[in-house]
Amino acid sequence: MAIESLERQPARDEWFAQRVWGLSGNKVLLTGNASPRPATSLARQIYLPRSAEEIVSVVKSLPATTPIAGVCGGHESSNAAVLASNEAVVLDLRHLKSIDFHRDGESTLVTVGAGVVFRELVEALKEHQGALPVGTGPGVGVVGYLVSGGLSGYFSRRLGLLGQRVVKLTLVTPAGDLRITTPDDELFVAMLGAGSALGIVVDVTFRVEPASAVQSAEQRVVAFETRAQAVEFSRGALRFMRDHAFPNEPVSLELVVTGTKALVATVVFDDSFKGSTADFVKPLEDLAASLKLAVVMKAHWGSWYETAAALWPVIAGQTGNPLATLQHCVSTKGVPADQILDFVCNTLVAEAPLDEAELSLVEIRTLGGAALAGSRLPSGNCQHTFFVDLITLYDAKNKTADERQAIVDLTKRVMDKAREVNGLTVDFSGTHSQPDDVGYVVAASDIFGTAAMAETVKALKKKMDPNNRLRFHPFARLL
Ligand SMILES: Cc1cc2nc3c(=O)[nH]c(=O)nc-3n(C[C@H](O)[C@H](O)[C@H](O)COP(=O)(O)OP(=O)(O)OC[C@H]3O[C@@H](n4cnc5c(N)ncnc54)[C@H](O)[C@@H]3O)c2cc1C
Repeated sequence: MAIESLERQPARDEWFAQRVWGLSGNKVLLTGNASPRPATSLARQIYLPRSAEEIVSVVKSLPATTPIAGVCGGHESSNAAVLASNEAVVLDLRHLKSIDFHRDGESTLVTVGAGVVFRELVEALKEHQGALPVGTGPGVGVVGYLVSGGLSGYFSRRLGLLGQRVVKLTLVTPAGDLRITTPDDELFVAMLGAGSALGIVVDVTFRVEPASAVQSAEQRVVAFETRAQAVEFSRGALRFMRDHAFPNEPVSLELVVTGTKALVATVVFDDSFKGSTADFVKPLEDLAASLKLAVVMKAHWGSWYETAAALWPVIAGQTGNPLATLQHCVSTKGVPADQILDFVCNTLVAEAPLDEAELSLVEIRTLGGAALAGSRLPSGNCQHTFFVDLITLYDAKNKTADERQAIVDLTKRVMDKAREVNGLTVDFSGTHSQPDDVGYVVAASDIFGTAAMAETVKALKKKMDPNNRLRFHPFARLL
């Protein structure tokens, strides 16, 4: 197939503005009070392939040293693939939109093309009464999330990581060969956490769970005015998490503390939960009352679909010109000790830059369950029981150079303190770390789960991609 006949994207600036969700907080720093140069892709060519054959033809027709970047949903926090470099070629995979359901005995499988984003997959699953552990962002690329070991705060305790539900994955290697991989392949497992460094995924097949796996969810939104109130509510809510959610596997609990001064407690109940869901969350309402904080919203979602789609309107409100973001996480392998919970309240909630970066979130959640029990993937996300992420987020439009720098410094200060805490793993997630941080501190053994897994990934990278063609990914400083 002649590469000349492939669709190309002529306007790089327009493409970049459309395809990128937010800009890394490290890339909006200014010197002096100068206006920032608008960010754009550096790639020398952007192709929009429509099939595996077209991907093969691009990869094979270029010199074996030409770097290549795959773009799916454009949400990765350091913007590595969308920016690329001036020698690179970008493959924008957005035309690969197929979603095909099929049966395998009693099981339902779905094969998803590399351009599908979560909103599209969730809507298709609704039609087929299915459920998967999807990510929260409607525009996040299914494959971009999968190849970085993505996790679902609401569903992974019951349904595992999305990567643990893959039965087949088709990719184009850095040499331009089409490969179909299944669970017996070493490459198959490595793709489900380090895949952006190893191949271009064409499509992936998941084992779907019936939608009835999720019974319902309750959400309570509590307003606060002072940070001290947020810390006190978090302290009570995390004791509740310790005593009632960790020992109770059919329950997933997430507490989000927002820069818009809300404490959002969400409890998702699996099919095996027995009892009254309203009674289960009553202690959280009592906690708010005891601190004289108002419960400003109560929501009940009656299905997997309603729960999966619940945050879409909230995420639609996260906008900026540009929207700046930094992602970090901390976690424990087992149920967290009280001093860890205290650290989360007294430092993470108390000192996160929620006032300076007003769209920021501290998300504190139960994990473990099926994600911990399932097959081992090269991702710290399947090694942990308790998970906190700090998403620093703000509209950079009206921030001065000093304010932008202060936000980076405040975020870094909190994460540096976390690194001093015994028993906490810091920045172990391909989806919740900030790979373009200056002095980036992350261990390959944490981010790929174990030292042995990190070695496997490194060996495969050497073998599959000796010229490092696939270099625009969150693990670039490790591989
Ligand atoms: C609003 C929002 C919500 C989020 N929610 C969650 C969540 O619930 N859970 C979670 O774990 N993470 C979450 N994330 C993080 C998100 O999962 C990661 O940033 C993910 O990498 C984004 O994938 P993408 O396809 O959108 O981004 P892209 O920037 O397009 O891709 C990300 C990486 O994957 C590579 N890639 C893309 N397509 C392919 C392909 N076909 N083959 C090989 N490599 C490919 C790219 O080269 C790049 O390195 C969220 C992020 C945002 C901004």
